[in-house]
Amino acid sequence: MTIFSMIIKGDIPCYKIAEDDRFFAFLDINPVNWGHTLVVPKHETDYIFDLSDEEIGEMMKFAKRVTVAIKDAIPCRKVGMAVLGLEVPHAHIHLIPLSKEGDMDFKNKIADPDPERMQQVALAIASKFK
Ligand code: AMP
Repeated sequence: MTIFSMIIKGDIPCYKIAEDDRFFAFLDINPVNWGHTLVVPKHETDYIFDLSDEEIGEMMKFAKRVTVAIKDAIPCRKVGMAVLGLEVPHAHIHLIPLSKEGDMDFKNKIADPDPERMQQVALAIASKFK
C-alpha cells in the first residue's frame, strides 16, 4: 500500500482539503509554496497516464474544483499544476499557488513548514471547496 493510500484510509495524518468518492486532496508536507496541494485518486495506480481516459478526466474536474478553492483562499495570480511522480508511486497532481515563476521551483521547498500555519492554510482552502 502506498503512503497516499494510508493517508486516504486515515492511518497516517494529513492536512486534508477535500474528498469525494473517488479523489482526495491534501497539502503536500514539503510545500514549494504555501497552499501546495496534492490531488490523488483513491484507486491506487502508480503512473498517472496509466489511468483510464474517464478517470483522468474526472480527476482533472476534481482538481479544478480544488484550484478554485486555493485561489479563493490564498493570495496568488494563478494556480499552477505539475505532475512528477518520481517519489511516491501513487498518481497525483501538484497544485501550487503562483505569484511568480520561482513559486513552482521543486528544488526550493519551504524549510520546516510551521504545522500551525499548514493547518490554517488547509482549513482556509477546505472552507472554500465547493
Ligand atoms: P513526486 O512523487 O515526485 O511527485 O513527489 C511526491 C510528493 O509527495 C513530494 O512533493 C512530497 O513532499 C509529497 N509527500 C510525500 N509524503 C507525503 C505525506 N505523507 N504527506 C503529504 N505529502 C507527502
